[in-house]
Amino acid sequence: MSPTRSEELFNEALNVIPGGVNSPVRACGAVGTYPRFVARGRGARIFDVDGNEYLDFVSSWGPLIFGHASPNIVDDIVKAISKGTSFGAPTEAETFLAKLIIECVPSIEMTRLLSSGTEAAMTAIRLARGFTGRDKILKFSGCYHGHADSLLVAAGSGLATFGLPSSLGVPKALAALTAVAPYNDIPFLKEFFKRSGDELACVIVEPVAGNMGVVPPAPGFLEAIQSLCSQYGALFICDEVITGFRLGLAGAQGLYGLRPDLTVLGKIIGGGLPLAALGGRRAVMEKLAPLGGVYQAGTLSGNPLAVAAGISAIQRLRGEKGAFGRVNYMGKRWAEGLARLIEAESLPATVNSVGSMSTLFFTPGPVTDFASASQSDQKLYARFFNLALASGLWLAPSQFEASFVSTGFIFEEIDLALEKVESVFATMKKEGLFA
Ligand SMILES: *Cc1c(COP(=O)(O)O)cnc(C)c1O
Repeated sequence: MSPTRSEELFNEALNVIPGGVNSPVRACGAVGTYPRFVARGRGARIFDVDGNEYLDFVSSWGPLIFGHASPNIVDDIVKAISKGTSFGAPTEAETFLAKLIIECVPSIEMTRLLSSGTEAAMTAIRLARGFTGRDKILKFSGCYHGHADSLLVAAGSGLATFGLPSSLGVPKALAALTAVAPYNDIPFLKEFFKRSGDELACVIVEPVAGNMGVVPPAPGFLEAIQSLCSQYGALFICDEVITGFRLGLAGAQGLYGLRPDLTVLGKIIGGGLPLAALGGRRAVMEKLAPLGGVYQAGTLSGNPLAVAAGISAIQRLRGEKGAFGRVNYMGKRWAEGLARLIEAESLPATVNSVGSMSTLFFTPGPVTDFASASQSDQKLYARFFNLALASGLWLAPSQFEASFVSTGFIFEEIDLALEKVESVFATMKKEGLFA
């Protein structure tokens, strides 16, 4: 069989880009294939360079809540681009976007715009350290907050131990300042705070975990973090890079009634262009340079194109009545449909979902933390992924990811996708994979 155009392009890329991809999540190694190269997208559909068409459940890993090439957002970017692409000086639109964010998210009194979620989370940690004068931080196993050194850390053994580097190049001494706790484990958290709460600058959490696959917060878990932080003088940081403007205008903190000290935003707020934000309490945010002593900067921060796309997306989410209702409905129809198919065949799988984000785990579950997510059979997922891809479904090439639907979907497309999944399951059953 002659290679596909994607295979050819991938082989070419492998020579000049490490692993052939500019972000490792795009490589398809975990599912034993090569990445399909994208030609274009439109609404819920994505087209590869070989002319194959897919229903897109990745949505660029979250940002595209309105689907691909959404006409209003494209128009607003085009309007902005004709005036220039970057000035390195303030523009009116940046203040407008900051005000929009502040109006939507009640815990945010001031915000700084940046270009990636990694930068925003990294800055949040530095700011928390600068504000509290403490060095240690706590994160949760399975949560991802970008690739800053302090956050590429895996759990050490035992309650009192701080973390170990999870990547080469992260100094042990730095990783040792980051503690890693199991997600949703309130007793662990209380015990940890009793021992080390006084030394903590902050706790950072994905209020709905998306980066170990979707894991919703257990009742009381986020509230416990918030109250322990306030009791011990540590800052509570909500990483809403995925959940911000996806689970509602006020994100997960609106949904669960939280008031974090700092919030990290990204993905959706850039309307598909590189934009992120760090926001929170005025007293904390005023510690940022040039007002305060915590340094942070960015040549392209608040970039006019990204800001135009972000304003376009957020205003539409605010103005378009029922945008969240619509995307949540699509998400619910998808997750419930998957759960029905699993139940009908008694498959060893489970679905977690919150709003428009969901994950199909190949484990009977329940999946409540990283340990239970890790029970998933990755070989089953790999087979599922490849059969689904061949039938026209664009899913994340890893078991431990969230899938996202967009308003670009109509419900018939969700149903079509479910029919495809049904026949994928039937094939897998015939292959004896569920025995
Ligand atoms: C994607 C993501 C990040 C990192 O954002 P980038 O823009 O990829 O740097 C941080 N936190 C969470 C929860 C994310 O999902």
